[in-house]
Amino acid sequence: MIMEMRGGPERQAARLLLVEDEPVILELLCDVLNDAGFDVVHATTGTGAVRAVHQHHPDLITLDVSLPGMDGFAVIRQLRESGLRIPVIFLTARDSAEDRERASALGAEDYISKPFSLEELLRRVRAVLSRAETTDRSVE
Ligand code: CA
Repeated sequence: MIMEMRGGPERQAARLLLVEDEPVILELLCDVLNDAGFDVVHATTGTGAVRAVHQHHPDLITLDVSLPGMDGFAVIRQLRESGLRIPVIFLTARDSAEDRERASALGAEDYISKPFSLEELLRRVRAVLSRAETTDRSVE
């Protein structure tokens, strides 16, 4: 499933890391994002997510907040503290203004509350990826 060819002349599909501890939701998201042409890897715990980031170098992370052990907020904090600026979209059933503010303060790009439509998710994923690409180019 994972291609190791990176940086070739043709553009590789963006790699997404999905972090979700509910198997049914995870499987659905993996299927939809695979079908949409993304290279998808996943993790089901916070520590697994941090490990997967170092192992797979994703272009974008969709991150559940309520995870066993280390939660999504702790995951993004740890990534940002180690200098990793990978865009993060929170996907969560928690929808208080406080949670949204916290996510934003920790540097999340977007925040989607469950339940959400799959079209909505795809639209937001593409929007965040194209913003990230523009930012990369402007640095050159
Ligand atoms: Ca969860």
